[in-house]
Amino acid sequence: MIKMVEPYTPLQYIMGKEKFFGFDFIVNEDVLIPRPETEVLVERALGIINAVRCTQRAVRILDLCTGSGNIAISLTKNAPDCRMFASDISEKALEVARLNARLNGVSDNISFIKSDLFENVGGEFDIIVSNPPYVARYEFETLQKEVLKEPLLALDGGADGLNFYRRIFNTACGYLAHNGYCVMEIGFGQLPAIKNIIESAKGFKFIDAIVDQYGINRVIVAQWIN
Ligand code: GLN
Repeated sequence: MIKMVEPYTPLQYIMGKEKFFGFDFIVNEDVLIPRPETEVLVERALGIINAVRCTQRAVRILDLCTGSGNIAISLTKNAPDCRMFASDISEKALEVARLNARLNGVSDNISFIKSDLFENVGGEFDIIVSNPPYVARYEFETLQKEVLKEPLLALDGGADGLNFYRRIFNTACGYLAHNGYCVMEIGFGQLPAIKNIIESAKGFKFIDAIVDQYGINRVIVAQWIN
């Protein structure tokens, strides 16, 4: 039987799945479709995990705005000795993320938390990773119609797209271990403004930016030097 779908529905929503970092993820309209650009973030975070790993205790990682869970799950698959926490404001997104953790056999390694950023999160982390919503309001009219089928909650970064970076860097120091890292995806052209946000947040040092496969600055690394 032919099922009718709305125009511009992304193929991934029709198929209900997408590959990311070599793993299978279930997707639906409650979560952003994982993008290949975000694999750059996972690779960089794995490098940091290897650098900070020690014998005394597990590396603690927090994934904010986890969505489908693609970042948290890919990291856990590659570094199963880490203690992973993943939060999202959307219960429906968390349902998808939990399903994906089960599908990939890492349910026992990840604690999912319903939280508006740090609101319901406790403890100290060695690494905070995030692909927060970063689309600026004025960019919405230029987005592909397919992207507009994705959850607004996962895209809308406020007037200039930078709200989540401001909120995260204002609060993250209370949740980072000494010399802890933030590894975050950023949008096209946002690097100078985000560098500013990091440098004006007390105790944070901008480490570097990494380009994606299209040559666009896509991931930033910052460190909490207190
Ligand atoms: N990658 C999405 C886009 O280009 C945005 C994702 C996000 O806001 N984190 O539209």
